[in-house]
Amino acid sequence: APVETPQVVIDAHGLPYLNAKLPVKKRVADLLGRMSLAEKAGQMTQAERGAMTQPNDIAAYALGSLLSGGGSTPTPNTPEAWAKMIDAFQLRTQATRFQIPLVYGVDAVHGHNNLSGATVMPHNIGIGATRDPQLAYRTGAVTAAEVRATGVPWDFAPCLCVSRDERWGRSYESFGEDPALVDSMETVIQGLQGRADGKDLKRGDKVLATAKHFVGDGGTAYGSSTTGKYTIDQGVTKVTREELEDIHLAPFRTAVERGVGTVMPSYSSLDIAGDGKGAVKMHARGDMINGVLKGRMGFDGFVISDWNAIDQLPGDYASHVRTSVNAGVDMMMVPYTYKEFSTALVDEVKAGRVSEQRIDDAVSRILTEKFELGLFEHPYADTSGAAAIGSPAHREVARRAAAESQVLLKNAGGLLPLKKSEKVYVAGSNADDIGNQTGGWTLTWQGASGNTVPGTTILQGLREAGGNVTYSKDASAPTGGYDVGVVVVGETPYAEGVGDVGNGHSLSLSAADQAAVDKVCAAMKCAVLVVSGRPQLVGDRLDEIDALVASWLPGTEGEGVADVLYGARPFTGQLPVTWPKSEAQLPINVGDTAYDPQFPYGWGLTTRTDVPKGGTATLRDLAVRAAKAERHRDERTGRALVTQARLLVQQKADGHLTAAVAKPFADADHLLLTGRYGKAVEKLAEAYRAA
Ligand code: BGC
Repeated sequence: APVETPQVVIDAHGLPYLNAKLPVKKRVADLLGRMSLAEKAGQMTQAERGAMTQPNDIAAYALGSLLSGGGSTPTPNTPEAWAKMIDAFQLRTQATRFQIPLVYGVDAVHGHNNLSGATVMPHNIGIGATRDPQLAYRTGAVTAAEVRATGVPWDFAPCLCVSRDERWGRSYESFGEDPALVDSMETVIQGLQGRADGKDLKRGDKVLATAKHFVGDGGTAYGSSTTGKYTIDQGVTKVTREELEDIHLAPFRTAVERGVGTVMPSYSSLDIAGDGKGAVKMHARGDMINGVLKGRMGFDGFVISDWNAIDQLPGDYASHVRTSVNAGVDMMMVPYTYKEFSTALVDEVKAGRVSEQRIDDAVSRILTEKFELGLFEHPYADTSGAAAIGSPAHREVARRAAAESQVLLKNAGGLLPLKKSEKVYVAGSNADDIGNQTGGWTLTWQGASGNTVPGTTILQGLREAGGNVTYSKDASAPTGGYDVGVVVVGETPYAEGVGDVGNGHSLSLSAADQAAVDKVCAAMKCAVLVVSGRPQLVGDRLDEIDALVASWLPGTEGEGVADVLYGARPFTGQLPVTWPKSEAQLPINVGDTAYDPQFPYGWGLTTRTDVPKGGTATLRDLAVRAAKAERHRDERTGRALVTQARLLVQQKADGHLTAAVAKPFADADHLLLTGRYGKAVEKLAEAYRAA
């Protein structure tokens, strides 16, 4: 039932919780002590802005939060319209007894991707390829600044999924397959939120972040469920205790240390070997949310459910509500069922099936973040930072990220970088398509091909760089005196699921893409760029390709891709995931015993001009020095030495990538990320000998 709307709004002025000078703890206790059960249930409820039947529901149900689901944007889709829309919602909270501001959330998973004109970053898989934590931090800072300037204080990012099977349609939301890599990219949390103590959240350029999806979202097995073949998204993650800790929980430990404000449970189920529980949906796993996250890890922010996720729990609606709240979910993303949820929650408490203590804990956590965000003092949008949205300075960060994310997998005869004097023939489905280049979660949930957002395509980037470029999308007439062909192929956008949009379930290039590659590569020397959210199988076609680049989903700044193609910056990206030979090898991951991919995890040639020279003796020397750096915890030196060793192996092994090379090579990158520089170089020496 709706909260009784009081006839006269109490002038809350003067009450302790409104005193910004008091410690947050005191303010929370004061406010909580005044609230009714229905008001508390309201704070725990999040509706979708478009699904709200009546704007007055905000006051009537004392809603704690609203969100824009992917693509739920105001018209016109401008910063001003966003701010106005959210301010209008916020105004409604002033008609409630305690005028508790709502906290508005969006999925800004690669820049403020719902806003037209925002700076769109590479998706996380590309950020993982940069191996550059400082850059990850800067992408987070730009995202936060653009998001908060439109009146949004909360971002459902980053995804800390450790993607273990490329057939998963959310692979591109992952920084990579190695928990150590995901861990190293969590600097993005500080970029979004600022300092770990939450003191920066009040700033007009910071937002509350969300570590998602807790836990094991990237580990769901393919086709293992009885409900159908393609269940990898939202399916079952079957793990041993050790795998759970080392692979999937590790990134959340770091997120809690970094002070992440909110955590979102995963749609998937967890099946832990030997715990006797079988496959249990994460939104029902009190042992994990209450026990591990809030208990052992000491997470003191609040837990927000995933979209309608409680509907997937067994039993009736009342049991969905009770089970998830009792498991430790503090706020429920119930876009359409916000009335039912808050009403049912009150009933469950009255019936004694959910304790008041649990409710008070949940509401305290939510209010704490609202106080820390400064929303009580400044409920309305501060748009002073709006001029920076899509600004050259912000785009420069995205451009750099796009450049650093490019992974040069093969470069026969040193075809790349291109020379300005060369005649370049550009072709392929993704050469001039900003929609494909930005992928899912861009303006709409699923994203779309075509001219969707302002930015620069790869073709435009090459032209702007001053290249001597001719373009034909379908590679018609590729003959006629060209020096080099650049064929840009790959995926069309999708979000969640198995990514079965466009190319179907397979990870193979489309027939049109294959034809374009074959045609161009038969006619001239060719570089193939794969614009996709995950590896695409090139198989034996690799032999006809001179240079192969994994471009991932680089975002709005195609100039960044052109920068490395023309050598304005060197290629420095490394594979964040293993690049398989065939689908039969999946899942394939660093550390596997039978590891024989097309390109190992960590692979990435460079076009740096200062590439070291040397052989076995050099590697021995590097190993000694790296071990010393390891003892001194000298990260900078350690990394530099391992990089040198890696480049030596890549030079020797290019074209001879057997399992004997691939395995130690991939292991070395994992060792590097965990600070074991000496061991990493030893592994690389092993790879070198096998090459
Ligand atoms: C996704 C979440 C997202 C939520 C809100 C869900 O479908 O799994 O990652 O935050 O929608 O848009």
